[in-house]
Amino acid sequence: MVYDHCIKGDKTPHHPEKRQYIEYQMGNLPLILSVPHGGMMPHPDIPDRTSNNLMAEHPTPNAHKNVKVVNLADLFTIEMAIIIADTIEEIVGKRPHLIICHLRRTKIDINRDIVAATHNNPLAKAYYHDYHSAIRRAKAVIGHRGLLFDIHGQAHMQNSTEIGYLVSKAALNDQNYDAFDTSIRALAKHSGLTAQELVVGHESFGAFLEAEGYRCVPSPRQPSPGMEKYFRGGYITRQHGSMSEGHVDAIQLEIPKELRQDGGPVVLAKFAKSLGCAIVKFFQRHYERPEDGHLSSSV
Ligand SMILES: [Zn+2]
Repeated sequence: MVYDHCIKGDKTPHHPEKRQYIEYQMGNLPLILSVPHGGMMPHPDIPDRTSNNLMAEHPTPNAHKNVKVVNLADLFTIEMAIIIADTIEEIVGKRPHLIICHLRRTKIDINRDIVAATHNNPLAKAYYHDYHSAIRRAKAVIGHRGLLFDIHGQAHMQNSTEIGYLVSKAALNDQNYDAFDTSIRALAKHSGLTAQELVVGHESFGAFLEAEGYRCVPSPRQPSPGMEKYFRGGYITRQHGSMSEGHVDAIQLEIPKELRQDGGPVVLAKFAKSLGCAIVKFFQRHYERPEDGHLSSSV
């Protein structure tokens, strides 16, 4: 059994010794938090992923173009996601689904296609399927409109959270993109709002997070990255958001190193709580249903 289920109402604290490699805490809100790169657990039976061992298995002339292996962990994103989930539950009285990979990124990269993710190691492939199956299961439990946040960390040294909707940096810089080409396609269809209103408008997620006092891009204050480095969103956002299919949208969050590591645990916790508040407000504005109860207006 790979999953470690904690149903809402189970106040059992997080028990690291009981954790499995892939952890799924089932929630009861149409909200999913995915944390693919925060894991620090080794695995004796999965070799490290290197570009050499992938090329050995796939010796094509252009293999080197596709085998860039990024092994850096997104440090403290698991700790942040737990605070975010706790904050949401404190405000709303219900909990998001929480899906975590505890394996080191040297062993598996959940946010890639399966070959790049696992280098075809059978055990790694099994964990890969467990993670993505957990997301599909959470979406099935939701059964209607919902929202997934894929939580990552970057070290671009601009102290700004990068919000990814799969819109490229060039398209953001030109403000030339369509809702059809975003990972929040279903929200655009449901709300009737334009892509620009949803990505950089006053009811965009960037607007809600900036209102909490934290810089982010895209946002009404900074609609585009300009010359800065920027992550548009990766495999999970593409596969599980509404660009591919269905009614569950996806947004990738790249949290800056300044807020995860450099400021220490107090800065980390303060930001994670603010991020939880911003998620509730965005959710309340765009996804709330009568059966979820009225989410607090005193957030
Ligand atoms: Zn990442």
